[in-house]
Amino acid sequence: MTKQALIVALALLMACGAKPGDSTKQKNQDNLVAETVTNPQKSINCFIYHRFGDSRYPSTNIPIEDFKAQLNYLKEAGFEVMTFGDAIKYLKDEQPLKKVAVITIDDGFQSFYENGLHLLETYGFPATLFINTETVGGSSYMDWKEIKDAHKRGIEIGNHTHSHAFFLNMDANERYQNFESEIIQCQELIQENLGITPEVFAYPYGEFDQRMLEIVKDAGFTAAAAQNSGVISNDSDLMACPRFPMATDFSDINEFKLKANALPLKVKGSPEQHVLLENFEPSLNLIIRKEGLRLNEMQCFIQGGTCDLSIHQKEDDEYEVVAKPNKSIERRRRTLYTLTVQDNANKWYWYSYLWINPKIKE
Ligand SMILES: [Zn+2]
Repeated sequence: MTKQALIVALALLMACGAKPGDSTKQKNQDNLVAETVTNPQKSINCFIYHRFGDSRYPSTNIPIEDFKAQLNYLKEAGFEVMTFGDAIKYLKDEQPLKKVAVITIDDGFQSFYENGLHLLETYGFPATLFINTETVGGSSYMDWKEIKDAHKRGIEIGNHTHSHAFFLNMDANERYQNFESEIIQCQELIQENLGITPEVFAYPYGEFDQRMLEIVKDAGFTAAAAQNSGVISNDSDLMACPRFPMATDFSDINEFKLKANALPLKVKGSPEQHVLLENFEPSLNLIIRKEGLRLNEMQCFIQGGTCDLSIHQKEDDEYEVVAKPNKSIERRRRTLYTLTVQDNANKWYWYSYLWINPKIKE
């Protein structure tokens, strides 16, 4: 090889060596951007309502003026309001990123039909109504004719069991049998009276254990709604979707806006079992990736008490978060631990976990 040829060969080699490296780097950056654009993290902010304009029951009622303000905000802020079932499809399908909100109504109270439904229609919003079939037509509950009418007017109908029992109060051997047969009974009554088959489910009182969750999954529902606050995401267990409760104490428009815009705080390691058996000061140990979150400012709330929070780095971007009550939670039936944190862009992230002590009867 001549000296000149060697120089050319070296130059080519260097060029070849340099270019692939550069283009790979560029390609990786392009992929990163492409992934961010085409595979964004979708999330759904879902709300749960019970009664509308019925001030006799403040803990389950939304004042009508507050409901109007919430619907108005969703419209003005450009949310796409979907049924629970459609929102789950959106989460699974190749659909572009949207701001999605879901309105769910549990129990089928008459006040929804009288005071809530026409407001949804005014705004052109659908919603999902979870029906416990035993009380249909009873005093202060919608009857089948009204439920059918609501369905015609854009309301998805979901299964909420037949009797709306406290299934966790039953012995294990009858609990699962009853739970399963009540789901079937509810499904059959809805089919019989409305000619439709519900695809979504909501746990009465938001209470369930792992085996109940499996029963709902095996029954073929596409998703099930719990009652703890939080945001549904691609990573959620679709058989335990969080919902933000909306009643008098939480219905202030600023609080609603915060929840409508909250993002899912993604955690690893949440316990499978919600039912408290022995330890009544349970600590919640979670792994959270920092990824721009201001973890040192994380807030923890425990219903009926205060929370001790400790956070320490595990490795790289992974942090262990331990939330512990500073007194026993034995005396409440349901105790929610809630974690909220902001990121560097001041967006709020939300997660909650429900403990249930079935020995406390309501
Ligand atoms: Zn209910």
